[in-house]
Amino acid sequence: MEKIKVFQGGTLIDGTGGDPIEDSVVVVEGSKFTAVGKKGEVNIPKGDNVEVVDTTGLTVMPGLIETHIHSCMVPCAPNHFGTGPVTLNKLEMLTRAIPRLQAPMKMGFTTVRDGGSGWGWYEVALRDAIKRGDIEGPRFQATGYHLTVTGGHGVFVPYNVARHGIEEMAGYIVDGPDEWRQAARLQFWNGTDYLKTVVSRDLISPGDLTISSPTLEELKAAVEVAKAYGKKVFCHASGKEGVMKAIEADVDIIVHGFLIDEECATLMAEKNIYWEPTNAYCRNMYWCATDQVPEKFLKMYPNLIPEWAYENSIKAWEDRVKNFYKIVKNSGVKVLMGSDAGCTYVIHGLNAMELEAHVQLGMSPREALLGCTKYAAESCGIDDKLGSVEVGKLADLVLVDGNPLDDITVLQEEDKIKMVMMEGEVIVTR
Ligand SMILES: [Zn+2]
Repeated sequence: MEKIKVFQGGTLIDGTGGDPIEDSVVVVEGSKFTAVGKKGEVNIPKGDNVEVVDTTGLTVMPGLIETHIHSCMVPCAPNHFGTGPVTLNKLEMLTRAIPRLQAPMKMGFTTVRDGGSGWGWYEVALRDAIKRGDIEGPRFQATGYHLTVTGGHGVFVPYNVARHGIEEMAGYIVDGPDEWRQAARLQFWNGTDYLKTVVSRDLISPGDLTISSPTLEELKAAVEVAKAYGKKVFCHASGKEGVMKAIEADVDIIVHGFLIDEECATLMAEKNIYWEPTNAYCRNMYWCATDQVPEKFLKMYPNLIPEWAYENSIKAWEDRVKNFYKIVKNSGVKVLMGSDAGCTYVIHGLNAMELEAHVQLGMSPREALLGCTKYAAESCGIDDKLGSVEVGKLADLVLVDGNPLDDITVLQEEDKIKMVMMEGEVIVTR
């Protein structure tokens, strides 16, 4: 007889964005949810094979989805690519990435997408090892190298080395539509689930944030390949020019979008392009530039951001404070919780820092949570089986001591994440 688990009494946030359900019942049979609703309205199975878990006082949530981390990075800028590019080979990078994936999983993120970590496509090996059960980890999606032009963002090695590119970095240097096309094919041949493209500089790469590096033809060539392979495209874009180029090229996810405006966001909403604003990263760079990094984080990593990054960082966060929520509200663009963990003080395991930053900028916790549930599942192409607690979906479930709708920071507190379940199997209890 199949084992049945009944979770009853807790407040259910089902991940669809609707009202929370008090005194809820969630029934798990095998790997799936088979009944969900309010107590009294759901048939509760009985029998020797039924285990009832009292969730009174707890919040019940679907397994969360983190749409953007960097498993190759520790959250310390600018030497944040591991402990220095070139010094780590891909095998060492792979082994260092394992706990960086397990950390969010232990906090309720049962699906994690890499935003691109390069280094010989180790993400693919890691993803497959987890799938086989050789390594414990979340459901993992691999992205591979950042496609970037000569001198573009994503190549954190000295210029003499970066000229032709090496395996031990996150960027893949490509110039001209043919090279962009070939590199895109190479990513998929190596087994990546996504394609990462770079059209702008970043807060942490020197140069003008608003300049867009590749031509539209180059970007389009790579996007066309991805579409042909049925894969989605991330685009790292900062200023308006880069974002408009990414929209025109038909990418699926725009990362950062520092300094974008309502026109950009409205076009994104029209084309169903998701936005990963990486608000925590932006805020944390502002902390660094204004000497406000909280003591507890400084103890973990020194503040190493270079002075030339100050101006852009301050400008970007001030713009966020002023415009972010207005842009989101007026455009209807779908905002993801892609924390960019591994970037400056966005710490692996504290991925929900991103939700906190969304809320700090005006989103309600309910709006912010869509970015790691419903919208995240859509953007990862897994919304038919994950992202919400609904009958027929895979039983990824999280029990939280506290209610993120009242205090979103509860999702950063390890002792509050009482249970994490993946496909019906309990993987964490506290
Ligand atoms: Zn990123």
